Amino acid sequence: MTETKSSIRIVVVGALGRMGQEVIKAVVKEPELTLVGAVDRSHEGVEVGSVIGIEDTGVTFSTELGETLVSSQADVIIDFTNPSVVVENVYKAIEYGVRPVVGTTGIPQKDLHAWDQLLREKEIGGIVAPNFAIGAILMMKFAAQAARYMPQVEIIEMHHDQKLDAPSGTAVKTAEMIAKERERLRQGHPSEEEKWAGARGADYEGMRIHSVRLPGYVAHQEVIFGGVGQTLSIRHDSIHRESFMPGVTLAAKKVMELTGLVYGLENVID
Ligand code: NAP
Repeated sequence: MTETKSSIRIVVVGALGRMGQEVIKAVVKEPELTLVGAVDRSHEGVEVGSVIGIEDTGVTFSTELGETLVSSQADVIIDFTNPSVVVENVYKAIEYGVRPVVGTTGIPQKDLHAWDQLLREKEIGGIVAPNFAIGAILMMKFAAQAARYMPQVEIIEMHHDQKLDAPSGTAVKTAEMIAKERERLRQGHPSEEEKWAGARGADYEGMRIHSVRLPGYVAHQEVIFGGVGQTLSIRHDSIHRESFMPGVTLAAKKVMELTGLVYGLENVID
């Protein structure tokens, strides 16, 4: 653990997960960040680097978040766990005055609102981003822009088959951004009928969202617009989880300057 005086002290939660391991690698490489804790459900007391295949980090895995936040004097938690545990983790972090940076998807709206209020009371910041990849942020922005001119749109998102939530957080965020740019629209034939339930996908404000889950995928999304005699496809592919790391480390630094919750990485980059 090399620490400079102004270094931001990071606890990674879900540290043994696919994303958590990438986050640890990114944090130890980043001079302005210091890894001070790694929380998961197993490997208590085992040195982190020896498990994930990097140099000695000087940090051991722990299984109790509250204790870790106190003993490590953390500034920020970076949470990539799952929708059923992230909510409690973030309430706990805020209670201890630790800023949450959250990549976990599937968080209920009511908790986002409550976190914002609690963070303001504590006068600290938090960032929740359903997608930390810069290319995905651009894909969402371009899709929202295109919807002004081509309002008929469907979203197809493709992820690995271990993903727990559907549709993906990115698809939800994209649909919300598109919905702000167009009127609610009933798409497809007025008399269309699903022969098999779910064939037309989920319905958000009249736009259809389809979730594909297959081994081999990381995180991918195509937004398809249809107009008279033409279609437009905007597609983003994360082919490795490293694609999310510049956004994650940026958020860990930016969160130190914020008060309240920011939802979406696009709101912390220029
Ligand atoms: P994963 O491999 O299943 O990792 C989750 C980790 O959290 C696992 O090691 C799991 O342990 C651990 N965990 C479960 N309960 C815990 C608890 N109470 N305390 C601490 N750790 C706990 O999942 P992933 O693929 O890394 O994805 C994690 C989340 O990130 C998902 O919600 C995914 O959608 C999201 N994601 C977001 C982005 C983005 O850019 N925002 C990008 C990719 C993924 P066990 O295995 O023992 O349960």
